[in-house]
Formats: sequence, C-alpha cells, structure tokens
Amino acid sequence: MARSKVIRREGFIAGCGPQVLMARAMHSDVSYDPGQYGWVFNIQQFTLHDGPGIRTMVFLNGCPLRCNWCSNPESQPSRPDLALNLNRCMGMSECDRCLKVCPTAAIIPAESGKVSLNRQLCNLCFECIPECPTGALHAFGSLRSVGEVMAAVEADGLFYARSGGGMTLSGGEPLIQGEFAVALLREAKRRRIDTAIETCGHVEWQVLQDAAELSDTVFFDIKCADPAKHKAFTGVDNTLIVANLRKLVTTFPQLSITVRTPLVPGFNDSAKDISEIIGLLRGMPAVTYEVLPYHRLGMPKYEYLGRTYLLGDATLDPATERALKELVSQYAASRGAQ
Ligand code: SF4
Ligand code: SF4
Repeated sequence: MARSKVIRREGFIAGCGPQVLMARAMHSDVSYDPGQYGWVFNIQQFTLHDGPGIRTMVFLNGCPLRCNWCSNPESQPSRPDLALNLNRCMGMSECDRCLKVCPTAAIIPAESGKVSLNRQLCNLCFECIPECPTGALHAFGSLRSVGEVMAAVEADGLFYARSGGGMTLSGGEPLIQGEFAVALLREAKRRRIDTAIETCGHVEWQVLQDAAELSDTVFFDIKCADPAKHKAFTGVDNTLIVANLRKLVTTFPQLSITVRTPLVPGFNDSAKDISEIIGLLRGMPAVTYEVLPYHRLGMPKYEYLGRTYLLGDATLDPATERALKELVSQYAASRGAQ
C-alpha cells in the first residue's frame, strides 16, 4: 500500500489542532509516513548519563515489554494515552470545561470536588485537552516530524561540540518505530551529531542492524538471564533479546556497546541473577557492563494514567546494591586483565 502523505506537518489539516490530529491518526483515519513522522513523548536536553558528553534524549512511544517496574509507563502504548493529574485540576467550583466537551460522558464530577475519568468510556478523542486551562488533562506524546525533532536536538549543537555529546534515542523502545528511529539517526549522522540508542533488544534484527549502523553507542538492556523469570516480570522471555545481543556483538565488533541491568527488588537483585547475566556476557570482551540503581520516579505517572504500580513500596537494600555493584566491578576488572 502506498504511504499516505496526508500529514505533512502537525496541524496540516484545516481546523485540526495537534491533539485532534493526534486522535485522528490514532484512530487510523489519517495516515502518515513512518519514515518522516513518529510518536514522541519527551525530548529532554542536557542529560549526562546516556552516552558521551552532554546529550539530548528523544523518547519515542511504544514498547514490546511490560516491565512491572517501568519508570515510563506512559511510553508503553504505541499511541499516546490520556493522562489526568488531579493535583492540577482546579475543581468543579471553578471549572467544568472538560465535562462540557466530552462526547462520551467519560468525565464526571467526583466527590472530592474535582473530576473523575472513566477510562472504559473514554475514546481518546482528546477534545478535552485543549479545554483544560491548567494542563491537568494531557496526552503523553505527539506526532513529530524528523525535522522538528532534529531542530530541537540541534539547538544544543554547541554543547555537543564542546563535550563530545549528541542525541540518544530512548523510550519506550525506540526501535518499535523502526523507520522513524532510523530516519532520526540518519539525519543526525548527516548533521555530524553523535548518536546513541537505548534498546530493550526485543526487536526485529533487521531494524536493530539498521539502527546500529547509524549509532556510535548502543545501550542494550539485559534484565535477567532466566527466560521464564524474564517473561513473568516483563511479559516476554529473553530468547530474542539474547540472540540479538550476540548478533550485534559479532556484526559490529567496533561498536561501543554497553549492556545494562536495572536492579529491581524481588526480580534480579541477587548475586545469582547478576552472575548469570555476567555468564551470558563472557565471550564478549568488548562489551561494557553496568547495573543501574532501582528508583520509583515513575510512580506518579501510574496515577495519572489510572494504573497501579505493581512493585508497591518495595525498595532495594543499599547493602545489596553495593554488593551487586562490587560484583560487576570485579567482572570489569577481570575483563581488563584478560
Ligand atoms: S479524550 Fe476521553 S475524556 Fe477526553 S473528551 Fe475524549 S472521550 Fe472525553
Ligand atoms: S478542564 Fe481541567 S481544570 Fe477544568 S475541571 Fe477538567 S481537569 Fe479540572
């Protein structure tokens, strides 16, 4: 099927604001070229830990995993979801605009004096968003063109030049929108901007290969070596992920690859878990390995999306975290000695 050129820029269709345009694209009565447009839920400037130097992170919607601890739950659906932040709602005594425009009566008055959202009734038309004066109702993501994203990335070109930084694609899983991700990487390379991707690895090999060819650094998550446990906590087993890592290492021997494991209490926070991952990495001497501390910074977003954070109040014991980091340091030292 020929790709539609209906959307050439945001708001192209007369009378449509970006939110309504988004909603129509979500419902497939507007199509767009995935090599030119993609769903982006955040662009974050001045980050320091996701590649060399000062970087701009571009977060793309969509993820094939459903990790229980996900810190970006808004990124999981392939299209933006409606979020309601009640802390920002003025309350019915001052504002009832969203109730008036909602075509499905999904928003009703709540006992608290604010509003309540019935997600069963909500059809994600997004008519309520532009009506909300405080931003209490908002969407996590919008349709952006390659040019728009690159303009935001290039705004910090001076910092990249001085620090060796650049653009990092993240998500969600950026390679779920493979054509868009590759187009962004290609355009960054054309503009001589350093490129990095963060991937969960559960993607088609061809897409990963295309992206790796245009990347200076790949951050590759290995969350757990045990396929059954991986499936229980993320929704998929790790067969494709491990196979992709092996192919990546052999196909791109010069590529900077860092394997990362987010430490999660009750999932992979034992010496056995980390040792098993280290076991997978043996025979990959050029691959760097690091563990990331557990955090719950994404918890408020679960509330905005009407979802429950499954790990509750679980925390990672600091002594355990130190011991696991020490294990990884010992592995790194043994690699250096090889
Ligand atoms: S997005 Fe949902 S809550 Fe908002 S107006 Fe549309 S149906 Fe109503
Ligand atoms: S439009 Fe926004 S501020 Fe007004 S009642 Fe609805 S959610 Fe609250």
